[in-house]
Amino acid sequence: MGLLTGILGIFSKSSEVLAASKAEDVSWSLSNAAWRKRLSPQAYKVLREEGTEPPFSSLLNDEKREGIFLCAGCEAPLFSSEKKFDSGTGWPSFWESLPNAISTKVDYKLIVPRTEYHCIRCGGHQGHVFNDGPRPTGKRYCNNGIALTFQPKATI
Ligand SMILES: [Zn+2]
Repeated sequence: MGLLTGILGIFSKSSEVLAASKAEDVSWSLSNAAWRKRLSPQAYKVLREEGTEPPFSSLLNDEKREGIFLCAGCEAPLFSSEKKFDSGTGWPSFWESLPNAISTKVDYKLIVPRTEYHCIRCGGHQGHVFNDGPRPTGKRYCNNGIALTFQPKATI
């Protein structure tokens, strides 16, 4: 009985881990209940369950001001406006992230493997990265707008 409980415990634990990437910062290793309290249902679906928002649903898609895009989960800076471009896809797109801001893993949700990326600090899912972006990196970070907040550069 003890062994069986132990095995079941391992299974339920691993399915929790699969729901979202692990936070590298232990202080951001929150329970699902704590995340639900912090986030709107739509943001929770994307950040914690690797959902995808409908295209053209985010105002950040058309954000053209200078500034920094922060993780909507933990406010870690992830992208700069300098590396944002209009991909025409309906999702905010960038050709490079800020250094040491995101981490990637391969997912098989659409059968064809895709490279998922997430905020290093809290593990929150942001989007997928493709190899059809502009120079100089050739990368296209296709980001859910709801997973980001925008901080315009302070104007003096
Ligand atoms: Zn984060």
